[in-house]
Amino acid sequence: MDKTEGQRLKEELFNPQKTGWEGMADEMKKAIFKFSDEYMDYLNSSKTEKEIVKNSKDILIKNGFVDLNEKQELHPGDKIFFENRNRSLYAAILGEESLENGIRMVAAHGDSPRIDLKQKPLYEDSGLGLFKTHYYGGIKKYQWTNVPLSMHATFVKANGEKVEAVIGEDEGDPIFTISDLLPHLANSQMDRKLKDGVQGEELNIVAGSIPYEDEKVSEKIKLNLLKLLHDKYGIKEVDFSSSEIEFVPAYKAKSLGLDCSMVASYGQDDKVCCYTALRGILDIGTPKNTAVCVLTDKEEIGFCGVTGMDSRTFEYFLTEMLNKAGQNKPNALEKLLHHSKVISADVDGAYDPTFPSAFDKSNSCLLGKGPTMVKYTGARGKSGASESPAEFVAEVRGIFEKNGVTYQSSELGKVDGGGGGTIAVSLANRGMNVIDCGVPVLSMHSPYEITSKFDVYQAYKAYEAFYKG
Ligand code: MN
Ligand code: MN
Repeated sequence: MDKTEGQRLKEELFNPQKTGWEGMADEMKKAIFKFSDEYMDYLNSSKTEKEIVKNSKDILIKNGFVDLNEKQELHPGDKIFFENRNRSLYAAILGEESLENGIRMVAAHGDSPRIDLKQKPLYEDSGLGLFKTHYYGGIKKYQWTNVPLSMHATFVKANGEKVEAVIGEDEGDPIFTISDLLPHLANSQMDRKLKDGVQGEELNIVAGSIPYEDEKVSEKIKLNLLKLLHDKYGIKEVDFSSSEIEFVPAYKAKSLGLDCSMVASYGQDDKVCCYTALRGILDIGTPKNTAVCVLTDKEEIGFCGVTGMDSRTFEYFLTEMLNKAGQNKPNALEKLLHHSKVISADVDGAYDPTFPSAFDKSNSCLLGKGPTMVKYTGARGKSGASESPAEFVAEVRGIFEKNGVTYQSSELGKVDGGGGGTIAVSLANRGMNVIDCGVPVLSMHSPYEITSKFDVYQAYKAYEAFYKG
């Protein structure tokens, strides 16, 4: 039957945004599921910012990238990477154009909310050995109790010797956990506000319970635990003061749902964008403009710090590229920044039908409709946002549409419902054109975050198209 004028007009003018799975060819479904399996493998071996950098570097090396420090000269088509203190990683493929005409960059962050140990963490009380913690990033603290946790530790001794220890990831390993009060005795705890249900100083990790056999010493359990650490890793108590000990969920990434359409895993904010940004740069050949993939650190605590996106080490990397390409001169760095185009690849909170009142449904991202372009973040009246100019949004949209990428547009939750920010601000402040675009996530910042496999794959396709320009 012929369509009515109204039906035709609606088709032409509306933006229906149907779910990406609808009408999908079997071939494409297979490609998506294969990509997701590889993504889940990456997640399972990359739970910390240091592991992200290490595993991503391995992938780059396998694909012909070399350390920038080993290169004397740079030419179009050269593939390089630059590591910032093992915690952030910049990769690039030199383009045909001069660097001062700008780079095309996709920047994600490898750090995720977690539980860190304090600098004097180990104590014993009432037959238990325990660790004092200080949480990292924005978490709902009650979610992190009674979860199996693994320890990912880096100790650095005063002589510079580094000791890495991972406990709780292998099948035979013990795990750790944070205890919570039994409901039978929780009458007064249950009267607390949810945000205080479990407080920061109550996030204590259970670490052991066997005392050292010696009548003459006190703190026998603590001594026994220190002896175990010393026997295996050569660690003494003072070494905690120069350590980074991160506790993360010990379980693995899994396919979620009867139809296996989703991924459930710790740390998908923002490892999902790390993986897709990294995979996206591998097969683009020699781009017109130099393509850069950034996996940064410390986003979850404000992108500050020497390995965060605010770090001037990023400019050092760009200047080294200018030098080695023989293109450095006064103002070259500023020109490069000014002409650059960046996707800040970070996740957005997906609409959750269980909590509709937190969202403006029509302006939220939904699982299964592709990566989402977020023109502005911030709080209240867009405070703290680096709102992307409409011209740049149009340019990125145009690239996606030309390349058949399914995408959506959204903002985070209801106006005045809360807010958030990303490294887009840090990049915009440098004079770079930037927009946020990443994968929608349910249960963001929880120990088990949810994404759609369709969105993961489309983010990879979106970033690949963007590098190519
Ligand atoms: Mn993030
Ligand atoms: Mn986050």
